[in-house]
Amino acid sequence: MLKLSGLSTDRAGPRHVKVLILGAGPAGLSAALYSARAEFNPVVLTGLQIGGQVAITNTIENYPGFPKGVGGSELGDLFQKQAERFGAEIEVDSAHSVDFSSRPFKVSADNRDYAADSVIIATGANPNHLNLPRENELAGRGVSYCGTCDGWFFKGKKVAVVGGGDSALEEGLFLTRFASSVTIIHRRDSLRAGTLLQKRAAENSKVKFIWNTTVASIVGDEKVQALRITNLQNGEQSTLETDGLFIFIGHTPNTQMFAGQLEMERGYIRVDEHFHTSIPGVFAAGEVADPHFKQVIISAGMGAAAAIEATHFLEQASN
Ligand SMILES: Cc1cc2nc3c(=O)[nH]c(=O)nc-3n(C[C@H](O)[C@H](O)[C@H](O)COP(=O)(O)OP(=O)(O)OC[C@H]3O[C@@H](n4cnc5c(N)ncnc54)[C@H](O)[C@@H]3O)c2cc1C
Repeated sequence: MLKLSGLSTDRAGPRHVKVLILGAGPAGLSAALYSARAEFNPVVLTGLQIGGQVAITNTIENYPGFPKGVGGSELGDLFQKQAERFGAEIEVDSAHSVDFSSRPFKVSADNRDYAADSVIIATGANPNHLNLPRENELAGRGVSYCGTCDGWFFKGKKVAVVGGGDSALEEGLFLTRFASSVTIIHRRDSLRAGTLLQKRAAENSKVKFIWNTTVASIVGDEKVQALRITNLQNGEQSTLETDGLFIFIGHTPNTQMFAGQLEMERGYIRVDEHFHTSIPGVFAAGEVADPHFKQVIISAGMGAAAAIEATHFLEQASN
């Protein structure tokens, strides 16, 4: 075997596993717990983010069982340890291509190939960023991508919302429960959101709109204090004082490698009510198959359900 700088130039043959789980967020690790307790010795490929989006979240206050809240990375760690206790194997590796045309299913990851009797896809979806300077640095310090998660921290404060679709309005209206004002900044002069949501927003005295405008930069060192905004019609810049910047400009599901193999809807993997994809034996759980809820508890529940279904599938296949 030729070795260059410690890297092997060839690969071992595919490793056969009964349950291969792609993703180590709440969905993947919950699926791992249930598959491990069913004694299938699941292997979890983590991708780049062990713990998933939870790991980059400061505090989670709406996951049951933690009345004082729990640190995001701590929760991810607890999910992992619980799954490992029952025999789940966590591999720090990213899948890059799959072949679901015959069984066992083939999955190629950066470090090795797998032949899997069943696959649970839990690769998540990432909230789209505005890509402003220091946007990432101020996430959790005024910048947020989730009103349901962070609204409570903005009691009596001013917040700005960017977006013009259903989620911007839904989340914006939710934020009026806490914030003293919610200013929706939209780059066009009309919204994409449904008529009923538009009507509710227009009737809510806390909601204001700034049309034909984008955010140019965030003002504030330690936390968000204001935004520099640009009027797209006349190019004029102004400052909007705000304590929070909520960005709702869509999510990008991590599904590129499944294109052409699984049925999708708007980029999300299409599943039935039991989390079966269009290929028997391949299941999907969490945000990769959930364009709507995007919460830890929902992803964890979907992961558990997908693993129960994978168990039934494997039991039937062996009879
Ligand atoms: C800043 C922030 C704050 C949040 N706060 C809250 C909150 O307070 N409460 C709440 O309920 N929810 C909150 N959420 C949402 C919550 O984190 C998500 O709903 C949840 O993590 C989704 O879980 P998931 O397992 O479906 O996907 P993810 O958490 O996105 O996990 C996806 C996993 O797939 C892996 N992966 C991706 N590609 C590959 C690949 N090619 N091969 C292998 N693995 C791959 C990733 O590395 C990761 O491990 C927050 C989200 C963010 C971004």
